[in-house]
Parts: sequence; C-alpha cells; structure tokens
Amino acid sequence: MLKGKTAVVTGGSRGIGRAIVERLRREGAEVVFSYASSADAAREIEAEVGAHPIRAELSDPAEAERLMAEAQEHLGGLDILVNNAAPTFALTTIAETELAEFDRILTVNARSAFLTIRHAARSMRDGGRIVNVSTANTFRSSPKIAPYAASKGALEQLTRVAALELGRRGITVNTVSPGATDTDMLRHTADQPILDAAAAMTPLGRLGEPADVADVVAFLVGPDGRWMTGQNLRATGGLA
Ligand code: NDP
Repeated sequence: MLKGKTAVVTGGSRGIGRAIVERLRREGAEVVFSYASSADAAREIEAEVGAHPIRAELSDPAEAERLMAEAQEHLGGLDILVNNAAPTFALTTIAETELAEFDRILTVNARSAFLTIRHAARSMRDGGRIVNVSTANTFRSSPKIAPYAASKGALEQLTRVAALELGRRGITVNTVSPGATDTDMLRHTADQPILDAAAAMTPLGRLGEPADVADVVAFLVGPDGRWMTGQNLRATGGLA
C-alpha cells in the first residue's frame, strides 16, 4: 500500500517506533528512522527490516534539523513523517522537578517535533502524511508527569495547527494517543501492580502491544487515511 512512498520515523529503535518502522516497511515504504543511543538495535533493524538508521539526540535542538536534512538526502523526498521519539523520565512532582529536566522533555517531545514538522511543511510532497504520537495522559492525567504531559499537550496543538495549514496540499496531520503499551518506557515508569491495574482498567483487558499502535499509524499514513486530519486517534484498548 505504501510502495513508492518515503517515511521518517523518530525513535524507531525500540517499542512503538520500531513496530511502526516494521509495519511501514512491510507496506513497501522506504524508511529512515532515528535513534538516540540504541546503536546495536538500530543496526539489527537495518539488517532485518531494511530501514536506514540515523543517530539523533533530539534533546539537542540542532539535531532535529540535521536528522531531517540527512533523511531527505537519503530518501530523495518525503511523504510520511512520524514523530514518535520520547525519552523516559523519572516520576517527580512539579515541586521536585528541575527546570533542566522540564527543558529536556519539552525539547525532545515538542521543540524537536516542531522542527521536523517545519521541515515537512517546507519540503514534504503534496498528499503527504504526518502523525504525532502523544499519550492518553493528556486526557487522563496523573501526578508526577508534568513535563511529559505538557510536552504532549504542545504536540497535540501542533497537530491541529499543521492540519489547517497543510490541508490544501492534501497533507494530513493527526495525533495517535496510545494507552499503556508494553514497552521499555512503560516498564521504566510502572511496576507490575500498576501494569496489572492498567490492563484491568482497559475494556479490552490487557496492555497494548507496540503493533496495536503501529497498525493505527499505518491506517492514517496509508490511502485509507486520506479523509482524516487534525484528529486524535486514541489507540488505548478503549480506555476512556
Ligand atoms: P521506548 O522507550 O520503548 O522507545 C523510545 C524511542 O525514542 C527509542 O527509539 C529511543 O531511542 C527514542 N528516544 C528516547 N529518547 C530520545 C532522545 N533524547 N532523542 C532521540 N530519540 C530518543 O518508548 P515507547 O515505544 O513506549 O514510546 C513511543 C511513543 O509512544 C512515545 O512518544 C511515548 O510518549 C508514546 N507513548 C507510550 C506509551 C506506553 O505505554 N509505552 C503510552 C502513551 C504514549 P534509543 O533506543 O536510542 O534510546
């Protein structure tokens, strides 16, 4: 379904991003993905899946533009952008949170995403697709995640504005908001009782798998997603 299309996926070395890379490759897209430190995993994906890795530490504001320039050069043009990268973080109250940590999370999840979207706005081919990966935490908040929730709130607003600005070129821009999905990030922030509670709270009665979210992204970036823009698809197993 995506033969002849080119894609950039940020944070494609693990978890949901890796599942998105694998799914887009299965659909026939040519894929560049970024990673921050998982060089071994990136090489393995390159060998097994045939996607091209580029290292980019997206807490460094200069890296997002370099990533997009290198990806553009490798791919020759851009049809699909998926902003998925996000760093793990310690759970701290607002009172405990250092400003440098707030800035780090905002830089990766919002500022760098703004820069990749800006690059796409300037150079993406007409009919392109942008998907921003947010979180169920923007509609179901919890304590000790202020920088993360604020960054994803910003990302969701970027989706809405970009959808309005790019729609006349046939470019759709959407958010996908996963619920609890079984990845390193989730296991870093939640212990087993919390994971069990998250599964029990979900109508479908289990944690999400990365592929559950990747399949929703694949719908949006494929031809069947053409009439969806400015939306936030909650890929949560029904968590309300
Ligand atoms: P993982 O921790 O499994 O993977 C994160 C990915 O982002 C990795 O590829 C990682 O690269 C990359 N990354 C992390 N920090 C940086 C950084 N500073 N600069 C550049 N890249 C970085 O996360 P998930 O798969 O769980 O999360 C993917 C997305 O889904 C995120 O946007 C997250 O907020 C969202 N999400 C996840 C949920 C969950 O329950 N898992 C729930 C709701 C939303 P490397 O491997 O090199 O470290």
